[in-house]
Amino acid sequence: MTVYYDQHVHTRHSFDSEETIENYLQQTTKQLVTTEHLDFENPSEDFKDSIPNFNRYNDDLQRHEERFERQILRGIEVGYVHDHKNRIEDFIDDKPYDVILLSTHQNGKIDFMDPVVKEFELERLIGEYYEQMIRSVEEMPTANILTHFDYGMRRVDVSVEDYQKLAEHYLKHLFKEMIAKDFALELNAKSFVKYQNDTLYDYAIPLYVAMGGTRFTLGSDAHVAEDYELGFKEMSDVLKRNGVTELVTFKQQIATSVPII
Ligand SMILES: [Zn+2]
Ligand SMILES: [Zn+2]
Repeated sequence: MTVYYDQHVHTRHSFDSEETIENYLQQTTKQLVTTEHLDFENPSEDFKDSIPNFNRYNDDLQRHEERFERQILRGIEVGYVHDHKNRIEDFIDDKPYDVILLSTHQNGKIDFMDPVVKEFELERLIGEYYEQMIRSVEEMPTANILTHFDYGMRRVDVSVEDYQKLAEHYLKHLFKEMIAKDFALELNAKSFVKYQNDTLYDYAIPLYVAMGGTRFTLGSDAHVAEDYELGFKEMSDVLKRNGVTELVTFKQQIATSVPII
């Protein structure tokens, strides 16, 4: 029987991680997939392009596959900005990724985790953030998982009541597009555990389920091996409370259902 494994993992092939493939292979005996950052003109890196060099990445994985006699899956986390659409498509087009994560991190000017977002009026932040995220789902030709739907809310204190009032019509639009394109909704441990946005997940998951959403993934968003499968117990419990019994994994971008343990 297939066992669920972490589908949001960074290594030194991402601009913001120093972690090695080897440490993850020693951390877990499960299927390993790494999902490295692609963010063009990244405000978190002085507007440099954050690009995982595919040849170097692939060579590194191949070396470890031979040494450890284990298969490793290839993944990428695309930080989507409309102006970068063509460059993103060109980058992904010819590469054999097993899983593509779709994220909204930045808008070409700021990262939505920069301290400056705390000064934004909440209505403006939510509007800008979710309009961009909806557009990413509409425009991205292929992706499998929508990550951390609450990334833009990590820096701000927002009650569920205010969030629902301001964000619900955007979320309904977002989920409708995602369901139509078979994207899975990620429960993200960095958001859920580290930034304590679990209440936003408690609110959003039943909404997604009520709209017909059935595909879920868990992602630790680990940047160090110790964080592999962070928060999986708590995040699984939320899904179970909502009657969800299955998760999905992706290989060659084909979904497989696996039971939630
Ligand atoms: Zn991310
Ligand atoms: Zn990530």
